[in-house]
Amino acid sequence: MISHLLALIPLGAIAFLLTHPSPIRALTPPPAIPPALTLEESWKSLLDLTPPPLPPLPDSSRYIPLPTNSPSSTLYGHLAYAEAPDGDLVAVGNGEKLRQGAAVQFQAMVNAAAADGVQLVPLSGFRSREAQSYVFYAIADQRGQTLQQRARYAAPPGHSEHHTGYAIDIGDASAPTHDLRVSFENTPAFHWLTANAANFGFELSFPQNHPTINYEPWHWRWVGDAESRQIFHPSR
Ligand SMILES: [Zn+2]
Repeated sequence: MISHLLALIPLGAIAFLLTHPSPIRALTPPPAIPPALTLEESWKSLLDLTPPPLPPLPDSSRYIPLPTNSPSSTLYGHLAYAEAPDGDLVAVGNGEKLRQGAAVQFQAMVNAAAADGVQLVPLSGFRSREAQSYVFYAIADQRGQTLQQRARYAAPPGHSEHHTGYAIDIGDASAPTHDLRVSFENTPAFHWLTANAANFGFELSFPQNHPTINYEPWHWRWVGDAESRQIFHPSR
């Protein structure tokens, strides 16, 4: 359409318009077209519009152990562990708590053992750093142990698997005198656990050949989901 109209305008008039810009056009120059953004500039402008990243969720990193090459990650042979988030701890009986996933499997394990005539007792599940301070420092003091000697039997605060809410000391209701003793290995509960605990995601943390920590047949940890496996990966 425009080309048809142009064809009707004499060439001389077009030449005049080109050499004599109208005063109106000179007063109101067309808006400047911004130069096209390069790809990099486009990304930059997008990034500028992106809101600042949210602060990390308190629970997402709390229970991830420090890297093993960190000087503070191990103490007397015990790896560092963060405390389980309080809201994820569930009662498993006897006043003890475990994290949700471990608690469900622990209860299933207790029921399965009971069906076989074995009574598993939760002796100690989740433990805070404060509670572990007593277990480590106060008992070392009572027994006249150096901290290095004590560490063969218990973890320093901040370095106990019990902080994670995935570890539990288990007893045998029919043989309480063997609670938390190596002789627990002779109880029906230990024999049953050795044969069946893996089916519920539990494994022995400190077997007989552990390099730095004494044999603890009563202490089991749950490695039944991705998170618990990640937490205990450095020690497996
Ligand atoms: Zn333990």
